[in-house]
Amino acid sequence: MRMTRIWSDFVSLFFPNSCIVCKTPLITGEDFLCLSCLNRLSYTRSEKGTNPAAKIFAGRPEVKSAHAFLHFKKGNATQKLIFSLKYYNNKRLGFTLGRMAALAISRSPEYELPDVLIPVPLHKTRLKKRGYNQSEWIAKGFNSVINRSIDTVSLAREKKTNTQTRKNLYERMTGMETSFSLTNPNAFEGKHVLLIDDVITSGATLNACIEELRLCSKIEISVFTLSIAQ
Ligand SMILES: [Zn+2]
Repeated sequence: MRMTRIWSDFVSLFFPNSCIVCKTPLITGEDFLCLSCLNRLSYTRSEKGTNPAAKIFAGRPEVKSAHAFLHFKKGNATQKLIFSLKYYNNKRLGFTLGRMAALAISRSPEYELPDVLIPVPLHKTRLKKRGYNQSEWIAKGFNSVINRSIDTVSLAREKKTNTQTRKNLYERMTGMETSFSLTNPNAFEGKHVLLIDDVITSGATLNACIEELRLCSKIEISVFTLSIAQ
């Protein structure tokens, strides 16, 4: 096992364009992943109501639809992709996967296209440190298929605060430290918005976004995440 890893690291020195998952050098037409790994990704089911993300929001009638594209498990290929996207400056991978997901999902006749895509914002300090918001790159890829608009300014992630006074009811109930605020309360009035994130686990972050977004009148909210952790 260790020899395999040493060999694959050695190979990737000379073939920088190697598969993120298995390190095989890529051939023309392959992007980030070899065809074999691409075919073996843990894709979720996409028929209406069967997607695992839908179950997380089952008790929230304000969520119109929720979809996760890949299963995220410790050590699986999805984990490698997410790590590359978040910690190795691989923005273009986010675009490619977002585009792949949109091609798969939006072709379904029952899929209702959103008006605006909202990548879940990062804290300002986190954004500065990473240099990019990975969810924004997923949104860009998704939008390259559906051609709507992306809003990265109207929803902001607030700094963690210890005071109870600035938290809304939902945060006080859940003890959550993350909160979001609308910089423009009218931004999404009457719009169908698609919240986009890289991984969904408990849904706490997305629920905090939804709590703020639902203050907009006549808003419809859908959710898309690149992966779902189990
Ligand atoms: Zn591969």
